[in-house]
Amino acid sequence: MKVIIHGGFFSESHTDAATKLAKQEAMKAIVKASYDYLKEHSALETVAYAVTLLEDDVLFNAGTGSQIQSDGKIRMSAAIMDGATQKMSGVINIEEVKNPVQVATKLMPYDDRVLGGEGATRFARDNGFEAFSTEIPQRRKEYEAKLGTKGLGTVGCVALDKDGKIAVATSTGGKGFEIPGRISDSATVAGNYANAFCGVSCTGVGEDIVSNATSAKIVTRVTDGMPISEAFAKTFEELKPYDGFAGAIAIDHNGNMFHQDSHPSMVFASYDGENVEVFG
Ligand code: ASP
Repeated sequence: MKVIIHGGFFSESHTDAATKLAKQEAMKAIVKASYDYLKEHSALETVAYAVTLLEDDVLFNAGTGSQIQSDGKIRMSAAIMDGATQKMSGVINIEEVKNPVQVATKLMPYDDRVLGGEGATRFARDNGFEAFSTEIPQRRKEYEAKLGTKGLGTVGCVALDKDGKIAVATSTGGKGFEIPGRISDSATVAGNYANAFCGVSCTGVGEDIVSNATSAKIVTRVTDGMPISEAFAKTFEELKPYDGFAGAIAIDHNGNMFHQDSHPSMVFASYDGENVEVFG
């Protein structure tokens, strides 16, 4: 059993030392809680659980504490993918729900599994997700100062369960100050992808991650037999021609955990039952 989580990138411009430490402590607690949960649950259930905890923590830009878009509204995106069945479900630009990843999970058994905008919000209401404001005063202050920041803290989790199954979930409040309607990578196969061989969750600038098809490429390379470290190296090399800003976490079917970032300030934590590693 293995769990790895990320909390996005530290903003180079406005993350003080105390916030950095608080994020690291939160990551440590959440990765341990998620590992405990994995003992009794599947990888799929665990990634939803871990991302819910990360969404509920105001330190991270997903769920409560999400970034505000250019028109003053918050629109969030999240996806979950089951590597065993290769089903992915997600919500794009959903409004006023506490946990977008839970709405994404609810969509898993449906034929129509990725919903956007008003349809996603309506589906949430019809399924008992009450209206909930995920805005916090700090984000409003940043919005008023017109601080759109790149890569401020999408969250994600990859888990490998005791049956050898892999799942991944990713959730974001976006880049901040976006044109309404902008679509993040988080609910696409570029930002969140898994099969029976590997699962990958990304953070960073969504446009760069989509241009590089980052998660799908890493997973495909591992599926075709490339060691996970080489799959990461090659895929991150391909971001360089356009200075792509991305970070990714992964677990393969042999239990190897891996992470890489193009601009080293991604915060993440992993746990294999013995050692908690926290970076960033
Ligand atoms: N990937 C997210 C987006 O582009 C932002 C982030 O990771 O912080 O919406």
